[in-house]
Amino acid sequence: MKNQKEIKCSFCGRDKSETYVLIAGITGHICDQCIQQAQNILNDEMNSKLKNTINSHMTLLKPVEIKKFLDQYVIGQDDAKKVLAVAVYNHYKRISSKIKKQDEIEIEKSNIILVGETGTGKTLLARSIAKMLNVPFCIADATVLTEAGYVGEDVESILTRLLQSADYDVASAERGIVYIDEIDKIARKSDNPSITRDVSGEGVQQALLKLLEGSIVNVPPQGGRKHPEQKMIAMDTHNILFICGGAFDGIEKKIAKRLMTNAIGYKSGRDTEHLDKANYLQYISPVDLKSFGIIPELIGRLPIVTHLDPLDKATLRSILTEPKNALMKQYEKLFELEGIKLEMEKNVLDFIVDKAFEFKLGARGLRSICEAILLDAMFEIPTSKGNSKEFVVTLAYAKEKFAKTNANKLKVA
Ligand code: ADP
Repeated sequence: MKNQKEIKCSFCGRDKSETYVLIAGITGHICDQCIQQAQNILNDEMNSKLKNTINSHMTLLKPVEIKKFLDQYVIGQDDAKKVLAVAVYNHYKRISSKIKKQDEIEIEKSNIILVGETGTGKTLLARSIAKMLNVPFCIADATVLTEAGYVGEDVESILTRLLQSADYDVASAERGIVYIDEIDKIARKSDNPSITRDVSGEGVQQALLKLLEGSIVNVPPQGGRKHPEQKMIAMDTHNILFICGGAFDGIEKKIAKRLMTNAIGYKSGRDTEHLDKANYLQYISPVDLKSFGIIPELIGRLPIVTHLDPLDKATLRSILTEPKNALMKQYEKLFELEGIKLEMEKNVLDFIVDKAFEFKLGARGLRSICEAILLDAMFEIPTSKGNSKEFVVTLAYAKEKFAKTNANKLKVA
C-alpha cells in the first residue's frame, strides 16, 4: 500500500496536500483543479461545435428563401419581409464570415426598426425569423424600462431574458434576436430640456445605445435589482440582432408634412399627386423618427427602417385561413380531436372579418370573435351524446352567437 503522502494528481503532479479533492481512478488520480480545467475545455469545445452548427445552418438560407419562409406565417407585408430577409441574411453572414480582422472592412450591424400599427404582424415577423434561424429569441417591452437607478427595469434586463431563453448558454444568447416592442413610447417627451429628467424617455434611449451598438454588458442572471448579491454575467452584444417595433401614432402627419415641404421646396421634385395618401407610412425615413422624438444616436444604431401596412379586409380574410398555423386551422384541429369535422360557411368568414374591421380590432380581434361564435359549441360538444360527426357553422348561427357577446369584451390590448 502506498504512503498517503505519495499520492499525486496523475495530470498535473500536484501533491495530495496541495489539492482540495483528489479523485481516484483505476490507475491514477485527478485533482479538483484539473477537473475544472477539463470542464472548461469541454465547454469551449461544445460552444464552438454549436457555433459551427449555426454557421452551417445560416449559409443555407438566402434572402429569397427567408422571405419564402416568412410567407408561410405572415400574410402581406412584402416590403418589411424583403428588408428583414436581406438584413438578417447580411447579419448572420457577417457573424459567420471567417475572414481575418486586419484585412477586412468591418461590416456594421444592421439592427432594424419596424414601424406599423399595432396588430399588423411586427412581433410575428421577428418571432418567425427567430424560429427559422433556431436562435434564442426574446420580446422586451420598452415601456417598463427606465434609466438606471429609477423605479422600473434597467435595460440590461432585456439581455437577462435572452439569456433565459438560451438556457443560460451565453455563447448562443450572444447570437440571438431581441425584439423591443413599443419603442415609440420612449420617444423624447418634449423638445424643451426641462428640470425634471426624462427617465423613461430619453434616458432609456441613451441607455439602449450601449446595448445596440455592441459592447460587453454586465447582465444580472436573475434580472431586476431584487437580487443585488447575484454575480453578473458578461455578455457581448456585437452579434445580437435587435429588432425594434412601434406604432408611432401620428407619425403619418410628420411624414406627410415632410413630403409636402419637399415637393414645394423643389417645385418639380417629387410629385405629391403620385403619393399614396392612404398609407403614408410607406414613405417613412429616419428623419421622421427624429421628429417623433427618437434621438439621432439611437436612429444611427437602427440603420434599417421599414414599415408594415395596415391590414385591409382581404388581408384579414387571408390571415384567418392561410398561414401555417392559421386560426381556422387551429379550430379545425381542436374539433378534430373531439372526432368532429368543423365547417365554417364562407360567408361566416366574411362576417368575422367585417366585424373585426368594423370594431377596429385588427388581426388580434379575429380570435376573440371566433371564440365568441364557437364558445357554446366548444362547451357542449365534448359531453353531448349526439352521433353527428360534423359541425357546420351557418351565418345565422354565427350572427346569433355574436349578438350575445358584449362588443367591449372583444377589445384586445
Ligand atoms: P404587432 O406586434 O404588430 O402589434 P403581432 O405581430 O403581435 O402585432 O400580431 C398579433 C397577431 O395578429 C399575431 O399573433 C397574428 O396571429 C396576427 N397577425 C397580425 N398581422 C398578421 C399578418 N400580416 N399575417 C398573419 N397574421 C397576422
